[in-house]
Amino acid sequence: MSESGTTRNVTGEDEVVDLCRELIRIDTSNYGDHSGPGEREAAEYVAEKLAEVGLEPRVFESHKGRASTVARIEGEDPSRPALLIHGHTDVVPANAADWTHHPFSGEIADGMVWGRGAVDMKDMCGMLIAIARHFKRSGIVPPRDLVFAFVSDEEAGGKYGSQWLVDNRPDLFDGVTEAIGEVGGFSLTVPRKDGGERRLYLVETAEKSMMWMKLSVRSHAGHGSMIHDHNAVTAVAEATAKLGRHEFPLVMTDAVGQFLAAITEETGYEFDVDSPDLAGTIAKLGPIARVVGATLRDTANPTMLRAGYKANVIPATAESVVDCRILPGRRAAFEREVDELLGPDVTREWITELPSYETTFDGDLVDAMNAAIVSVDPEARIVPYMLSGGTDAKAFARLGIRCFGFAPLQLPPDLDFTALFHGVDERVPVDALKFGTQVLEHFLMNC
Ligand SMILES: [Zn+2]
Repeated sequence: MSESGTTRNVTGEDEVVDLCRELIRIDTSNYGDHSGPGEREAAEYVAEKLAEVGLEPRVFESHKGRASTVARIEGEDPSRPALLIHGHTDVVPANAADWTHHPFSGEIADGMVWGRGAVDMKDMCGMLIAIARHFKRSGIVPPRDLVFAFVSDEEAGGKYGSQWLVDNRPDLFDGVTEAIGEVGGFSLTVPRKDGGERRLYLVETAEKSMMWMKLSVRSHAGHGSMIHDHNAVTAVAEATAKLGRHEFPLVMTDAVGQFLAAITEETGYEFDVDSPDLAGTIAKLGPIARVVGATLRDTANPTMLRAGYKANVIPATAESVVDCRILPGRRAAFEREVDELLGPDVTREWITELPSYETTFDGDLVDAMNAAIVSVDPEARIVPYMLSGGTDAKAFARLGIRCFGFAPLQLPPDLDFTALFHGVDERVPVDALKFGTQVLEHFLMNC
């Protein structure tokens, strides 16, 4: 029947599930060094899928086997600034023995696509490829230039991915003023104060910084049987424990304040910042409380300890690493507070510094996100929130790009979505992939 023109065009929704599954089957585990398989195969897969319909993707290798793919679709109005849409192709490692379905199988079971990367973030990568292919095949021209970037190494801070591209190929992002990427656009279902439920879609407008601190004490070595006046292990252990138990002051940022205000409007829950039971009220939000709670204050979680080489030798040095996540605008105050806790004996040093980020929840792009969500889920509402972790937005923000987390997924109310990130049995509903594709398609046609 194709000659009579009645054959339906292949759409993004038709392809997204297979694209996501095929991406999951390409193992792109990132161990934080170059010991993993790398992202080259995934980068080439993406390039092939885009080239197949006539786009002109380019693959950039930052280190042997570590590669990212970038493609630009020209828009109707070249005088308008471009929009960047970015996803990362690497994933954190997975231990297959722990999983119900093999993490690199992309199996479909119970209406879900299972596998490492299903929500972080081969889901959105699949949506983006599907939409770019659909646009090109159907001759759809977006209102302005779109730059699609599928980058490597996000899970290790982006040194060989987004950060590398920003440092070495900033020309790829010429004219880009705004961007969308992970982690936002997913739904959170809350009970309404007047009965029923409301689906909120959380748009990420802010991120805490990701700052890894090394603590060290240098003293002198000694025999384990004798009196020792300055044991480096004891000193580092004490300082690390002090920091790990410390509670930093509660700071209400705009993103968190607006998020909680929206929740109050919908649910009637009152978030009293002076109440000792603030955490209890936030816990009513369900598993997302893990993220929201962590955006009310700075955190410092000890993650590594290193000292000694023999049971009866007091070593001269001892070290620990503390994962610090600092709210926007709080860095100087955080450092003062930490120095007071540690005292003069302990040396601290930043070994990774990725700054915080925040933007406002307003303007045409936010309106376009809202319109896109409501076009598919008419009763929904979008609300801003802050991510306690970090994303590639930190790198792209260095180019002056205004970044949002908007990777739309409509989720079942009882799915513990936040636990799926880096978790065992990571999976994404098939319907959510199709929903996200519809929303992003609407968004990119009206951005
Ligand atoms: Zn991610």
